[in-house]
Amino acid sequence: MSTTSKDMAVTDYGRGSSPRLRTSLDAIPVYVPGKTAASGWKLSSNENPYPPLAGVLEAVTVAAAQMHRYPDLHSTELTHRLAEHLSVPAAHIALGTGSSGLLQQLMQITVDPGGEVVYAWRSFESYPIVTRLFGARPVEVPLTGGEAHDLDAMAQAVTDRTRLVFVCTPNNPTGRALHRDELERFLDRLPVDVLVVLDEAYVEFNTDPHCADGVELYRDRPNVVVLRTFSKAYGLAGLRVGYAVAHAPVAEALRKTAVPFGVSATAQSAAIASLDRQAELMERVDELVTERERVHKALLEQGWTVPDSQANFVWLRLGEQTTAFVDHCRDAGVIVRPYGQDGVRITIGERQANDALVVAAGHFR
Ligand SMILES: *Cc1c(COP(=O)(O)O)cnc(C)c1O
Repeated sequence: MSTTSKDMAVTDYGRGSSPRLRTSLDAIPVYVPGKTAASGWKLSSNENPYPPLAGVLEAVTVAAAQMHRYPDLHSTELTHRLAEHLSVPAAHIALGTGSSGLLQQLMQITVDPGGEVVYAWRSFESYPIVTRLFGARPVEVPLTGGEAHDLDAMAQAVTDRTRLVFVCTPNNPTGRALHRDELERFLDRLPVDVLVVLDEAYVEFNTDPHCADGVELYRDRPNVVVLRTFSKAYGLAGLRVGYAVAHAPVAEALRKTAVPFGVSATAQSAAIASLDRQAELMERVDELVTERERVHKALLEQGWTVPDSQANFVWLRLGEQTTAFVDHCRDAGVIVRPYGQDGVRITIGERQANDALVVAAGHFR
């Protein structure tokens, strides 16, 4: 029999020591993806439950036939389509391998070791990971009792060592979104040489008219960069494409730090095809928003405290009941996402999945 990788794993390579890796890696938590449901509904990853629209799949298939070629390095067509879609100059757009890729690039273009990065906590799990990855110091500002960003405390946490501020709105995992006026006051208080990242991964689900639109706010603010993604509302999580909108110096720096050819031809063509089918996509988003409101109301009626969500998920702060709730839901065929002993995030899925969740929640305790 030939040598299997299992045999290789037990081979003694001699010295028993491993290469010297950066010790800062020891402090970095490994990103925990939502559990995959062996059976049952997966409401643990903020994915869009809808399969790709027919035309999108066809566009991807055509692009896939060219996989022996490198893709267009500059994603020229997608960049221009986005520029048109958002009414911004093409020079203000930088594409990335999901906004996760852009988060790393934002660290690369701003922080030196010892620099500080300010963000709310809890917020997106990648912030502490990328911050430590680049040797910067995380400055985590607790959310308010209402699960929103404490913008006053965040402004006070900014020092002359701060290089980056992450603002996630709507906030993952709590769903709360910032209003335009409070966000503008916050931005006005910050030094102009500190880059502020408005992470709007869920912006398409936001139906609150008082909320800020990052693409409006960035226009007269050279220190603001907006992050958006095709992974959530557009349902292209598996293809890895997101974008940043910022003034030319920041956008150009982001393009310099991109992994060459990281955004595949299939990802580029799926994004373009999705922009072509904006109306159909937004119909699906509307359905998810309707479901979000239905689930929110049902949970309130059961007596849960549920913050207003402007995203495709809801948040329950369960404290020490977190694990018990996750296990209870799993036994009822629904996978939800625990965050330590803080609480649980529940993605809005297809109607049947949401029904199963509501029934399970009603039987808890
Ligand atoms: C999902 C998510 C992202 C990034 O997703 P990508 O798939 O990498 O584009 C960024 N920010 C937040 C807050 C998210 O929830």
